[in-house]
Amino acid sequence: MKRTGKSVISVLISALILVLALVGNTDVKTVHAAQHAKGVKMGFHKEIAINRSEKILKGLCLFHKWSLRNTSGDGCESDIVEHYVCVKCGKTKEKTITTAGNHDFTAPTCTSSAVCRKCGARGRGPLGHDWTVATCDSSATCKRCGVKGEGPLGHMWTSPTCTDPSRCIRCGKSKGPVPGHCFTQATCTVPQLCMRCGMSYGEPLGHEWEEGTDTSTEKCKRCGVIRGSTN
Ligand SMILES: [Zn+2]
Ligand SMILES: [Zn+2]
Ligand SMILES: [Zn+2]
Ligand SMILES: [Zn+2]
Ligand SMILES: [Zn+2]
Ligand SMILES: [Zn+2]
Repeated sequence: MKRTGKSVISVLISALILVLALVGNTDVKTVHAAQHAKGVKMGFHKEIAINRSEKILKGLCLFHKWSLRNTSGDGCESDIVEHYVCVKCGKTKEKTITTAGNHDFTAPTCTSSAVCRKCGARGRGPLGHDWTVATCDSSATCKRCGVKGEGPLGHMWTSPTCTDPSRCIRCGKSKGPVPGHCFTQATCTVPQLCMRCGMSYGEPLGHEWEEGTDTSTEKCKRCGVIRGSTN
């Protein structure tokens, strides 16, 4: 009976030691592991004593032996910090390598913004296209990415005139022949006239009088007008 009670206490003490070891620093855990491996059975008070002495030692460790445990942060949204632990006393220290905000952005394009390769944060952009001017026979093109925009616009032809062919009012290109004037026949009183532009050419022909005995009845051979009439 007494023996069973004692082993129950022993189990409880072991459990307590384990809890203490887990909440304690790593070196205490190492000590426990080493001692258990050697098969050394320790009493509860001895454990407490070790734990206390470790804590005292931590304060007394004059020459720390730092070992890099891990690195945290990405340098973008948080600092990159190296975490060191003293292998002798378990004391920890931190060293900031890179402060936050050091994004590593991709180049922004016409249609997409820069993205941080490390944290995915959005940077500059999108830049938008940088268009050339669209012409009559070529489209606007982005100088940066080569994408085609509006156009080609097509020519805007004017009607040809007597002296000028059809021309594009945008680019000045011409097409087709120069039509030339389209003259009517000259009459006795009216010179040659262009039916399209109204330009006159030459002189009126003048009347060609029939020779008559009575000058008051002289008639024009071409138009029949009687000499001395209003015409
Ligand atoms: Zn130390
Ligand atoms: Zn970033
Ligand atoms: Zn573009
Ligand atoms: Zn044109
Ligand atoms: Zn004309
Ligand atoms: Zn006439």
